[in-house]
Amino acid sequence: MMDPIINHLKTSKHILVASHTNPDGDAIGSLIAMGLALEALGKKATLYNESPIPTVYRFLPRVDSIVNKLPSDHEFDTTIILDCGELDRIGAAAKQAGQTPALINIDHHTTNDGFGQWRLVDTSACATAEIVYRLIKELNVAFTQELAVCIYTAILTDTGSFRFLNTTSSAFAICDEMVANGVEPYKIAQHVYGTFSIGRLRLLNLALDSIEISLNGKLSMMTVTQRMLKDTETYPEDADGFINYARRIKAVRVAALIQELQNEKGRSNGKRKFHVSLRSDGTVDVADIAASFGGGGHVAAAGFNLDTTLVEMKKTLWQLADKL
Ligand code: AMP
Ligand code: MN
Ligand code: MN
Repeated sequence: MMDPIINHLKTSKHILVASHTNPDGDAIGSLIAMGLALEALGKKATLYNESPIPTVYRFLPRVDSIVNKLPSDHEFDTTIILDCGELDRIGAAAKQAGQTPALINIDHHTTNDGFGQWRLVDTSACATAEIVYRLIKELNVAFTQELAVCIYTAILTDTGSFRFLNTTSSAFAICDEMVANGVEPYKIAQHVYGTFSIGRLRLLNLALDSIEISLNGKLSMMTVTQRMLKDTETYPEDADGFINYARRIKAVRVAALIQELQNEKGRSNGKRKFHVSLRSDGTVDVADIAASFGGGGHVAAAGFNLDTTLVEMKKTLWQLADKL
């Protein structure tokens, strides 16, 4: 599976590398790692992500080289899409990216739809960065400290600091190797988890206060509204990871975080855009649930977007609780 991709990359010249909107540590770490590896091979790589890079990831090397608009005069011979179950997950550039001569899909989501001419999709990989790591090995590129930092951060965050179901022996093995290549775990943990703004802590307070539990105790729900962000002077990225508090509650099988997205003013039908994050204890496949709403993800972590009202959104989720 990897050989044709290796051969192709060796002959390509200008490669577009992109990952999903509202990126997490895996989307950003894999993106930069891929870029560094291609650069080491003497290739030109354009790194693309439509969304702002969350503050906690801005310490990563080369983060400022990520563009949020495709250059108009580009001539990519190849596109690599990272950490996306569907091509559309990269956002507005999907159409253009899909038109490059060669499209490579590197991902670990169970809901991956198999887009692209070449695929490195491994749902048992702890993170997309694990597959990127394997590819870099095959390309015979050395793991510099910069590369190691990206791979380590991606695996650290996608495994929830080695706590989630995807915490495998390769997660530890790769991270151990990255530490041998110069990663300082404490420093990265400080950047990613140890530098909360006071606003973020206040937002957590509001989010914790919003937790509701279904009558049967199996579903918990947390809500983060635009009002809460405004009151605490925070951004949507500041709610990253909050859902884990709702999931930790004893007997809870599925936790849902409803995040109200930014809505244009004057929407007439009263509906608003929401992003729902789902997490399970492993006994329930939330990727399945998310897919039924047009989203996707993994068995224990998934998400979807919906245009609805908050009341309707909650009603739909409470109905889910009865089936758990
Ligand atoms: P989140 O809900 O953003 O915390 O994401 C949890 C997991 O579900 C991640 O692996 C995402 O890539 C995936 N995911 C989230 N939202 C969507 C969506 N709208 N479509 C497909 N996959 C999603
Ligand atoms: Mn991701
Ligand atoms: Mn991932």
